Amino acid sequence: MKHMQRAELDSLLTHVAQSYRLLVPQRLEDGTRLLRPWGEGELVLSGEPVQRKPTEYFLPQLDPLLKIDTAGGVQLATVPETPLCLFGLNRADLQCLGFVDRFCAFPPQDDAYAVKRQNGLLIGLTGYCGPDGQLLPLTDGRCDIELIALADGWLAQAFTDIGSALLAEFNDIDPETLGTIRSLSEKRIAEERATLEQAARIVQQELVPDDFWREIGDRCILCSGCNLVCPTCTCFCVQDRTDQGGTERSRVWDSCQFDGFMREASGHNPLGSEALRTRRRIHHKLAADVERWGEISCFLCGRCDKTCPTGIGIQAVAAEIVKRFSTN
Ligand code: SF4
Ligand code: SF4
Repeated sequence: MKHMQRAELDSLLTHVAQSYRLLVPQRLEDGTRLLRPWGEGELVLSGEPVQRKPTEYFLPQLDPLLKIDTAGGVQLATVPETPLCLFGLNRADLQCLGFVDRFCAFPPQDDAYAVKRQNGLLIGLTGYCGPDGQLLPLTDGRCDIELIALADGWLAQAFTDIGSALLAEFNDIDPETLGTIRSLSEKRIAEERATLEQAARIVQQELVPDDFWREIGDRCILCSGCNLVCPTCTCFCVQDRTDQGGTERSRVWDSCQFDGFMREASGHNPLGSEALRTRRRIHHKLAADVERWGEISCFLCGRCDKTCPTGIGIQAVAAEIVKRFSTN
């Protein structure tokens, strides 16, 4: 465990920027906090979560995969030679990235994702650096380095060899310093997740009637915002664009809230109503992924609830499920 002051933090980031394309939290004039290139603006070390989902840096909305030239030769898309470092991700965003890493690594591996993700560096930012200095829960280690904001600087802990090497020159501090913050953090995580986990149990037991999904689904305007902002949504479709030089094949984000998401060539649509599609969106995160991956694939990043114009993001729906269908 290390301790650092602002000058040392700047020195760490300057060092990282020599080998990585470093993105750090900055604020736009309208108040939006998002990741931008190091050195292009003022570093903003506290506030609301960064706007864009972290997975889009490795699985972008339009992701060119390959080119087929007119003679039939195939060339895979190139990736930047300098690896990426994302600095300032909170616990939820790191968990989402960890989930997608696992999903994309499952055989057959998603090579287009892996090649962008390999050699990347993740630096989490937690502790007293939330909105109004609120405590952001500690990560569970799904990063190379975690910086924990305190009143008098930052604690830094490494979870990988590369992280340890980057922190080697900084001052050691007794790991016990983390004691109180760790217990407060665990309490906060349990409180935040209680409703979602209770809703998940209800959905898994199939205690939610079809009428509920019809009622919630009727409020969906099929804008796809919930899926497009979600760091654990990975569905995509494939698009080919042909010109005189050949064909470029890309993948493009898809949304399970779209009417055409599962429509078959015959015209049959297994998800042919807003009710079915809304049920699927929630069921997938709270039940299907638990069965397949052993964990709920929502880490409460908050983006879908903030984005949904009709108030049916996952936390709102989970709260409604618990209110109406809880049996205890
Ligand atoms: S809060 Fe919404 S956007 Fe965030 S991980 Fe959960 S489902 Fe996805
Ligand atoms: S953001 Fe809300 S309205 Fe838009 S597709 Fe998702 S659930 Fe429907």
